[in-house]
Amino acid sequence: AKQNGRNRYGFFTADLEARTARALQIENALRRALERNQFELHYQPQVSLATRQVVGAEALLRWRHPELGMVSPAEFIPVAESSGMIVSIGEWVLHTAVHDAKRWLDMQLPLRAISVNLSAVQFRHPQLPEMVTRCLQQAGLPARRLELELTEGAAVDDPAAALAMMDQLHDRGVRLSMDDFGTGYSSLSYLKRFQIYKLKIDQSFVRDLDDDANDRAIVSAIIRMAQALGMQTTAEGVETDGQLEFLREQGCDEGQGYLFSRPLPADEFEAYLRQHLRG
Ligand code: C2E
Ligand code: CA
Ligand code: CA
Ligand code: CA
Repeated sequence: AKQNGRNRYGFFTADLEARTARALQIENALRRALERNQFELHYQPQVSLATRQVVGAEALLRWRHPELGMVSPAEFIPVAESSGMIVSIGEWVLHTAVHDAKRWLDMQLPLRAISVNLSAVQFRHPQLPEMVTRCLQQAGLPARRLELELTEGAAVDDPAAALAMMDQLHDRGVRLSMDDFGTGYSSLSYLKRFQIYKLKIDQSFVRDLDDDANDRAIVSAIIRMAQALGMQTTAEGVETDGQLEFLREQGCDEGQGYLFSRPLPADEFEAYLRQHLRG
């Protein structure tokens, strides 16, 4: 057993070293990524479950590196956060997303709002409200067309500061969504005090809706709670007609997922909007 334990420890160390090396490689490459134009945004449609019409889109960051290939945001966002680079990367994301949205609105394409993910690190940055307003003004996009998605983790450390930040963003006319709802630690007593416009039901609750009665009960309860608090709901990771039907019956407002579309490069998303214009 001892031998076994040592082996496992040895394996764990090697694995950890490999992961650290990869993280370092990513961190170094990430420093150059902005200036080398290696980022792009993909857009995933958000669809009204009642009408099946496109109502919005979530901007999702993609990093194309010449040697590392397409690096997943799940891998590089944590590195960008721990190194602080997420602040300038996040500004590029917001700037790009609101300019794209403005262009599509000027083309009379059917898009009500654009959603942008905010890291907890950005959310704690005191200049965030000014940065958001500056991007909106530069693009000429009305604030109500922008939704900022934050996770419950953004509010855990210092709920009072989070409350103040949400109030500031809300006062500037921007809408706030609680991302991955149900997976974090935020207490329900805070939820009612936060200026939250929309709850995004995490895909882990949506995935097994077709055969898990517990998930159906949780999702149904989240939707009813949101309705009682006057919040919108969006279900994430909708992949099947069965999930769609259940969510629609329960009164969930919007869905997002492969059933409707994968996240698309900007030009393909624009074509998708044009198709929906023709109906
Ligand atoms: P998220 O905000 O929860 O984004 C939803 C993720 O679910 C996206 O993964 C999307 O591609 C994926 N997805 C959409 N529909 C389906 C579906 O039907 N089934 C399944 N299995 N997955 C689906 P992605 O693009 O890899 O992004 C992962 C995470 O990286 C995001 O999770 C978000 O937390 C973070 N992220 C992405 N872009 C940004 C960004 O610009 N800024 C920040 N701070 N974080 C970002
Ligand atoms: Ca999100
Ligand atoms: Ca999410
Ligand atoms: Ca997620």
